[in-house]
Amino acid sequence: MLGRLTKATTNVAGAQIDVYTYSKSDKIKSDQLLNNMQSMLTAAGQFLKQLPVKRYTFLYHFEDQSWGAWEHSYSSEYVIKEEEFSKKLADDMTSIAAHEFFHVVTPLNIHSEIIQQFNFETPTPSEHLWLYEGVTEWASDAMQLRGQIMDLPTYFGELSQKIAYDKSVDTTYSLSKLGLTCYTDEGQRQYGNIYARGALVGGLLDIRLLELSGGKRGLREVINELATTYGPDKSFPEKEFFAIFTQKTYPEIADFFNRYIKAAEPLPFTEYYGKLGITYTPSIPTGEKIASLGMKPAFTGAKFVLTRLSDPLLKAGLQENDEWVAFNGQPVSLENIGKIQTDLKQLKPGDTYEVTVRRNGQDITVKNAMLEKEGVKQYVFQLDPLATPQQVQLREVWMKNL
Ligand SMILES: [Zn+2]
Repeated sequence: MLGRLTKATTNVAGAQIDVYTYSKSDKIKSDQLLNNMQSMLTAAGQFLKQLPVKRYTFLYHFEDQSWGAWEHSYSSEYVIKEEEFSKKLADDMTSIAAHEFFHVVTPLNIHSEIIQQFNFETPTPSEHLWLYEGVTEWASDAMQLRGQIMDLPTYFGELSQKIAYDKSVDTTYSLSKLGLTCYTDEGQRQYGNIYARGALVGGLLDIRLLELSGGKRGLREVINELATTYGPDKSFPEKEFFAIFTQKTYPEIADFFNRYIKAAEPLPFTEYYGKLGITYTPSIPTGEKIASLGMKPAFTGAKFVLTRLSDPLLKAGLQENDEWVAFNGQPVSLENIGKIQTDLKQLKPGDTYEVTVRRNGQDITVKNAMLEKEGVKQYVFQLDPLATPQQVQLREVWMKNL
């Protein structure tokens, strides 16, 4: 990265961490970002005990558009729309950075030969995307929970959001299949779920390992062992990884992989979180009446579509998966979807709105009134006041680095 950069440096668990920032009109500086990231980096150091790199660099680029973040072997890069520096901006950057930074473990230090010899011209998929992205996303939250920089209600909120995402895509699409089809259009439509279902399965695998080991060895400990066994230059055999992992841990883990990674059985939140004295309730009525759009907009990776249309919208002429191009006359795009979502939240039952869809090259505009429905809180995790001492003990183990 070239340009007018600010720099900040720190040291975490034996590694030098550098932050470089380009901010188009000098609104955001490296030391502001690093200050906010410091406790996350410390938590990552505690989670990993020893960082697997000697030096790591965060490259921040703030200009006119947001393009997201991606990891390299010894650095990660963030291309984000510039705005005034705020605590929220810094928190958002830290949250993305926690995920990207954890990639130094998976896949940099734990990967199959397909990733080792990755063909960038004709990408060959690896079935173990659940490990590279799902476990990474799980770890980025778990290390913050265990480092006490994320509280339990926030962690539960992260789980709920991920369940909601999983429910918004095809829940019969297994993580193995998602890994193997991720370079196809079909796989791309499911891709976001590797961060949702993938992380949820990582969390369940952690609980199962803690249970089977009597609270001695969870997913963190197994991952740290695997990072020592393998490394940047030593890959695991793509076809044998499930068997290797099972052999390193417990025979029951083969069944876990079969059901929740190779297949897509419904995820056992009630049973697994129950082991920790945490209840899971799919839906709790709040007693409030709330406004409902009567449909669910979704992003396919290429365009916005309208799904789960209610009867009034179907009668008005919309069809399932119509391409959504405008809302109240504003064009729908990645740049302004945030503003449109804010506008949507202001609408009350009975308020009217207009949506425009494009079907076979033709624009169709439909006017509709907001519906009213019972408010519910979905995918709720709560501490069980009736938890047994045994459940509480496993929960305490689950909440810290062993
Ligand atoms: Zn990632």
